[in-house]
This record gives sequence, structure tokens and C-alpha cells, in this order.
Amino acid sequence: MKSKTKVTPTKAHSPPVPPAAPRRILHVDMDAFFAAIEQLDRPELRGRPVVVGAPPDRRGVVCTASYEARRYGIHSAMPSRTAFQRCPHAVFLPPRFERYAEISGRILAIFGRFTPLVEPVSIDEAFLDVGGALRPGRDGVAIARELKRRLVDEIHLTGSVGVAPNKFLAKVASDLHKPDGLTVVPTDADDILHFLAPLPVGRIWGVGKVTAENLARLGIRTIGDVQRLDERTLARFTGATFATHIWRLARGLDDRPVITEQDIKSISNEETFEEDRSDIAGVRQCLIELAEKVGRRLRASSKLARTAVIKVRFSDFRTLTRQGGFAFPTAGDRELIAAGLELFDRLRISQPVRLIGFGVTGFLGEDERLPWQPSLFPEMDARRRTEAARALDAAVDELRGRYGSDILRRGDWGGPD
Ligand SMILES: [Mg+2]
Repeated sequence: MKSKTKVTPTKAHSPPVPPAAPRRILHVDMDAFFAAIEQLDRPELRGRPVVVGAPPDRRGVVCTASYEARRYGIHSAMPSRTAFQRCPHAVFLPPRFERYAEISGRILAIFGRFTPLVEPVSIDEAFLDVGGALRPGRDGVAIARELKRRLVDEIHLTGSVGVAPNKFLAKVASDLHKPDGLTVVPTDADDILHFLAPLPVGRIWGVGKVTAENLARLGIRTIGDVQRLDERTLARFTGATFATHIWRLARGLDDRPVITEQDIKSISNEETFEEDRSDIAGVRQCLIELAEKVGRRLRASSKLARTAVIKVRFSDFRTLTRQGGFAFPTAGDRELIAAGLELFDRLRISQPVRLIGFGVTGFLGEDERLPWQPSLFPEMDARRRTEAARALDAAVDELRGRYGSDILRRGDWGGPD
């Protein structure tokens, strides 16, 4: 496969490696990861449309489609039935998450050779802060090329890489020239504005479909449209907090550090409703799903948490947070859900809810300053929890994978819950 390399020219007067250690962030996104692994393991599938996900005769969605399948308009999260209608001769395969996780671990090990500052975002995506690995003659682009070569040589897979001064820009860049892309974002502030201006506003992190539609009604379609507004005008449309968020990102300003697994102090997920919700049962259901998401992330990071936190925001933006300890450090969905619901029910909410959030904190080892011992966790966990509950959590994690969070709901299983 030909490597698509887009290098935006730097100005002649700027040195290739500035003297002060600049922020140089890589975002690596593996190409059609699940499908590419199936094609790697089964050479007869190479060059053919491959769809990894639910079988086409059942309810369920596509996890990943190979690039051959994408030519038929098949994409992630599409119902498998629709994918089958678009390309009946595609090879449909069930996901093998264990195999994907194994390869993912090998890929992370390669990243670790370039820098200790690696933040895995999902099974096939990570941020790398390579600022400390820059040398004269070895800039961020050279590191990205080397990294892509290692992926091909050692894993036999391609990834697309964005090289930029921060995480937001790196993530935008890695997605621009897939597959096998290498996209470099300029470092000069004006060049960054030009780089972002033509892109749709939906590229801004946090701007979903509904927000994008609302902004389009105001004539704001591209990031350049946002750049032309001052923050106060924007705030009249979107509210002050969100205005600051998109105003900064539209200028390519993003200070978020690359956070390694060991640095993480809390894990949380929240959901803002498109319309404020008065059906408390529906909000409770959403809280359950958020707790399951957090549980999955917690288990993926081999951590046990001591404390659950919920956050509730009302239509008038009044926000409440409540926290409570678990009976014992845990990573189990049962305990997370029970704690979340208990905290929620105690609030006796009777007004419309705009946002609900769930998180966990107080990770085991944080206070004790124990050396990091992953093997300790499953053992302690197992002592406290039934095998059935653990098996259910594992099965749910596996089935949900990346896009499948809607594939099943806990009630459908008739499990311990
Ligand atoms: Mg990917």
C-alpha cells in the first residue's frame, strides 16, 4: 500500500527543531483494526470485503469494515443487515477481542520504545508525547515515519498518524488521510488557523450531530466560521462554557496533557441529554449504562476503585455531585451500579435533568504507594465477587468492544443482575 504523506511546508526561516522542548504529540489510529487483523491471520481474506461484527441474519452492528467493504458504503456502527444488503458477498466474521487485545498490547509496547508518555484512547488508538525524544535531525515527523515502519515490520499492520503541537490537532490530523496516512500540522499559530478553517465544525471534540445542526442553522458550518466569531457572540448561541471550549479548539488551542495509565486518578463518563428529561426512570437507566461504561474502563486499566461519584445537572445548570464509598475496592459492574443508584435515589429528584454523570475514584494503591502490581488486583477482586458476576462483566465487555455499547443491555441477559 502506498503511503500517503502530507507534509505541510514549514516557513523557511523557522528552524526544524526549536531550541526549547516543544510539545510534539502523535495520535496513532490503526487502520480498520479488527478487519485488518482478520486479513492478517487469514491471508485468503486479503483484498476481499471483510466485515467484523454481528452476523447479518441477527440484530447487531458492524464493529469494523475492511477498506474493501467500505467501498460498498459499509461503515462501523451500521446494522449488519444493512451491510449485507450493500455487499452480500462480503465475509462476515464475529469479533475475536482477545486476539485484538493481544495485538493492541504489542502495539503499545512498540509505542513505549519511543516515549514513556503513551495514553491509550481505545484498543487501536493512542496519544504519544514525543517531546522528550526529539533530537537534531529527528523531529516529530521522523519519529512518526519510524513508528509507522515498525508497525508494518513487526505487526504487519498500518496505522495513520497525526503529528501536531497538541492532542486535539493530532487527533484531527490522523483522521485526514486514512489509511496509512501521515499528516503533519504546522506549529505556527496562523498556519494552524488555516489548517483548521476548511474543516467541518463537527471535527471539534464535543460537537455532536445535534450541536452541528444547531450551529449550521446559525450559518456556522466550518471551523473557520467559528474562528470569525468572537467568544461573546458565540456564547450567546451556545452558552459560556461551551463557547470557550469550541472557541479555543477552533484556534487549535488545547493544553490537555498526555495522561498515561498510571497517572489516571479518576474514571468517569457523563451524558448531556438533547432535551432535559423528566422521566426519572429513563435517567436512572442512563446512569446504569454510564456505570457499566466506567466499569469497563476500570477493568481495562486493571484498577480497583474505593469511591463512586455521581453528577446531576438540572435545566437551570445547577449541578450536584454526591460521592460514597464502596464496601470494598471494586471494579465490578454490580457494585458500581448499586452505588450509583443509591446516591441518585437519595437525591429524590423531581425536576428535569440536563446531564447525568458517573465516575469512580480513590484507586487502590494510590494512597498506599504500593508498587504497581497488576496481578494483585484480580486476586483481591476474585475473593470478593462471585465467578458468575465476573464472567458476565467479561462477556459484556467483550461483546461491546468498541462500538457495540448498544448491542445489548444488561436486562437482556438474565444474569446475576
Ligand atoms: Mg482505527
